[in-house]
Amino acid sequence: MTLVKLLYLDEHATTQPSPRVVTAVTQAMRCCGNASSSHHPGRAMGAMVERAREQVARAAGVEPSLVVFTSGATEANNLAIRGAVEACDRDGNGRRRIVTTATEHSSILSTCRALEAQGRAELTVVPVDGDGAVDLVALEQALGPDVAIVSVMHANNEIGTINDIAAVARICDRFGAPLHVDCCQTFAKIPLDPGLADYVSASAHKLRGPTGVGALICGSEDARRWLVPQQTGGTQEDGERAGTTNTHGIVGFGEAAEETRAAWAAGEGQHLAALRTMLFTMLRDGLGSEWVRLNGPGEARRRLPHNLNVTFVGVCPISLDEAVRDRVAVSGAAACRALGGERSHVLEAIGSPDDGATVRFGLGQITQAEVMQVARLFCDAARRLRGSACPIPGARS
Ligand code: PMP
Repeated sequence: MTLVKLLYLDEHATTQPSPRVVTAVTQAMRCCGNASSSHHPGRAMGAMVERAREQVARAAGVEPSLVVFTSGATEANNLAIRGAVEACDRDGNGRRRIVTTATEHSSILSTCRALEAQGRAELTVVPVDGDGAVDLVALEQALGPDVAIVSVMHANNEIGTINDIAAVARICDRFGAPLHVDCCQTFAKIPLDPGLADYVSASAHKLRGPTGVGALICGSEDARRWLVPQQTGGTQEDGERAGTTNTHGIVGFGEAAEETRAAWAAGEGQHLAALRTMLFTMLRDGLGSEWVRLNGPGEARRRLPHNLNVTFVGVCPISLDEAVRDRVAVSGAAACRALGGERSHVLEAIGSPDDGATVRFGLGQITQAEVMQVARLFCDAARRLRGSACPIPGARS
């Protein structure tokens, strides 16, 4: 039996850990000590955490004291949203509305909806345009003196749309509304001017680091102190996030932030954009442009360089998944209501028709030859499956 290498193109779900990160984490795990202890081993672990804090802060362009380590972007998003709503309640300032956008990650949308359902906040969800960018006119109309926090993602994790955060920040400033930006897909890759946001979320596993570690990066000491902590317990992270410090994960995050920042500053984004363009061109030329619809912006500067999201028109998602899954790891091919999956809220928000199999490609550690293999594989499968019925009754093609 010949073993075929499985090609990994799902970098928006999680990235392939970097060897440098694996080495750093392994070395840290050979040491024992609680980073909060005052004895020598504890202090040694504490020093590793502070070094990582500096690495993460450098990637964000802020002072290290503004970095609050969390268990990932989900927790960072919860801390920003819940922490701001509770801070407004504590201050009695009458601000109890959250403003966010239709294409945010579920860790934002579900959190906002939970707070609304509990009667602790009101919620306004601003629409996006056909490319998935926040509608700035609607955002401005949605703001008012009652807004506790605005949350707008830097780039979308499904269709790669990059929002104009400078424009969003200008609007928020006019209403004195704090701005949170979910930078999970862009952190250490696509720089965000540090003066723009009051809070930024990041996650290590999206930049070749370990899972289960991330950060909420605050725009100022005041912004940091203002938030109401969401975990009660010890005084770790200056009281902002209780719980024994995840030294090993944090060391990996620091190393990953430094490595990714350097790689993207040296042109990783342009390299991946060229591969992405090649993949899309091969799919479109191989199948015909009416059979491959691009979801999200066509303009390169408005899209994550490593993202491609397309719908193979007339192809059953289940059949496509079966045809490719032993050769390539991608997302979305099996996203099908008949399998209990739900249609993507992002595709709904941009008005993409439900007429085929949608695939999200996230490019990372992949060669040009491998990208060509992937394009051929999808062209062959889509040509063969186009127009044939789905194997499960009721599944959409
Ligand atoms: N926000 C965005 C935009 C994401 O893509 C993700 C991960 N898919 C998250 C938040 C959640 O990150 P984590 O896995 O670190 O909780």
